[in-house]
Amino acid sequence: EIYKKVEIKQLLNEVELLITPRLVGENILFSKNVCSCYLDCYEEGLKQVLVNLISNAIDAVQNCAEKRISITASCEHDQLLLNVENNGEMIPAEVLDNLFQPFFTTKQNGTGIGLSICKNIIEKHHGTIHCESNHEATRFIITLPLHSQVN
Ligand code: ADP
Ligand code: MG
Repeated sequence: EIYKKVEIKQLLNEVELLITPRLVGENILFSKNVCSCYLDCYEEGLKQVLVNLISNAIDAVQNCAEKRISITASCEHDQLLLNVENNGEMIPAEVLDNLFQPFFTTKQNGTGIGLSICKNIIEKHHGTIHCESNHEATRFIITLPLHSQVN
């Protein structure tokens, strides 16, 4: 069984360690606000989701005078709500419609595989992922079922 009980705080700390060198190197203001709760998850998979989302966020803030990325995690009822947000240009509707399609990319050297992998992993956890974008920010919103005490 690859699904384990994992504390979201600890998982996000490990993700932050992985990406800190890039954030520092590129002068990105990073903030993180995380509740304390547990998930049943495939840890490496969920870390990959977050690293993919943050990598995209890093690409997206390249032309911003002040580059900002934030992660928040909050527990509501039996669900974890995870937001990965960046400032940066608003995503046009025709891009937004295709974001999660395998091999869809708007980047010169993109593979277009990152977000389709994210969606796959989240759906294997019985969660959801979607994106909202406006002139202020782009936000990827993930919901995941919390660890259940039963069974
Ligand atoms: P890739 O990063 O290789 O292009 P992804 O599947 O990770 O592939 O992303 C697909 C596309 O979604 C990107 O090319 C980009 O157009 C768009 N995208 C993803 N994340 C963001 C973001 N945070 N801000 C703006 N556009 C984004
Ligand atoms: Mg990507």
